[in-house]
Amino acid sequence: MSFNVLNSAKHYLKQGLKAIGKEEFFEFLATPEQVLEVNFPVKLDDGGVKLFKGFRVRHSTVLGPAKGGIRFHPNVNLEEVKALAFWMSFKTSLANLPYGGAKGGVIVNPKELSINELQSLTRAFTRAIANNIGPDIDVPAPDVYTNPETMAWIVDEYSRIKGSWQPAVVTGKPLNLFGLQGREISTSLGVQYVIEALLETLNKKPSQTSVAIQGFGNVGANHALLLFKKGFKVVAISDSSTGLFNANGLNIEKALQHKKQTGKLKGFSQQGVKEISNQELLSLECDVLVPAALEAAINEKNVASVKAKLVVEAANGPVTMNADEILFDNNITVVPDILANSGGVIGSYFEWVQNKQGLAWSLENVKSMLKDYILKSLNKVQSFAKENNVSLRTSAYALAADRIINALKLTRY
Ligand code: GLU
Repeated sequence: MSFNVLNSAKHYLKQGLKAIGKEEFFEFLATPEQVLEVNFPVKLDDGGVKLFKGFRVRHSTVLGPAKGGIRFHPNVNLEEVKALAFWMSFKTSLANLPYGGAKGGVIVNPKELSINELQSLTRAFTRAIANNIGPDIDVPAPDVYTNPETMAWIVDEYSRIKGSWQPAVVTGKPLNLFGLQGREISTSLGVQYVIEALLETLNKKPSQTSVAIQGFGNVGANHALLLFKKGFKVVAISDSSTGLFNANGLNIEKALQHKKQTGKLKGFSQQGVKEISNQELLSLECDVLVPAALEAAINEKNVASVKAKLVVEAANGPVTMNADEILFDNNITVVPDILANSGGVIGSYFEWVQNKQGLAWSLENVKSMLKDYILKSLNKVQSFAKENNVSLRTSAYALAADRIINALKLTRY
């Protein structure tokens, strides 16, 4: 079953605008500034040639250059990329960054390509969008199934086109090629800081807190590891092969080793560990549920079974609009994606500033700056929600929309 995530995005926008009495900006904020579709050939290892389709959607540049990742996934489609680009504008606005929002995607299953083919595809896509990206225009980053290596190919290809190194054209680069200490874990770190801050207000210690994490990609796996090291009880994790459960907490270091060796979580056998389905993971009796995979993971079909007290959206758009209402009615607090996973783009911002200025910050510096940024966002979202008696999501959308609208009035009217 497929869900139209763009509808959810627009619904949340409407609620946010209503909270600030600025509904007249709906059409402007719901519509991307630019939509680019490219089709490009890639030479395969067997000598054949295959045509691929990709997108780059620039949602907004009202607050600065557009910013947002590129994903490689077989289910990428234009509606989805539009929703993801929209979310980036709201994420950067809320985090108080000097950016707008964008997103890109290529319809491809990267697991079916060799490393050479993947490099050729990335370079060909970069050439196809080269006139539309740039350090002060639109700055890509990693997303689902793209990583620092992908960014290395992009920065190299783009710099060859321009005839000089352009490190600030993408973020999330390898540490040895203009990267930032901690960028790979910055999304996960941000989610951790948000969870810790919320638990502190509840007076709950990590050892008393059970967490279930759906998704074991860059964000889910790093988040599970960070929480494990902090003494949280990570009772469940999952990837596309299986879910794993242990009521007393899983050993995430060992699970990661298994994943690295075999490529999947399935088959990880340790005392007390049980394999569970994705659906069982979402329905677990636990304190915190972290959807860290794809959009629409929690939807009208399965939302009734969610029993966690707190849902923290590490993925983009993991809760559909109908499910969101039911969670609210069931008194389950949801920390929205544009706040919860903003550590990623905050880290990207530090990398971009570092590249532009030729600086190199320490990991400690990055962590403390990131914490400062994301907790400021959390505080203002909580205060507005309380004052206006709205959900954290509506509050986040209201504040993010307001900042864009205020800049819009100063510049484009
Ligand atoms: N792909 C990440 C996100 O969805 C990071 C984007 C970025 O750093 O530009 O937030």
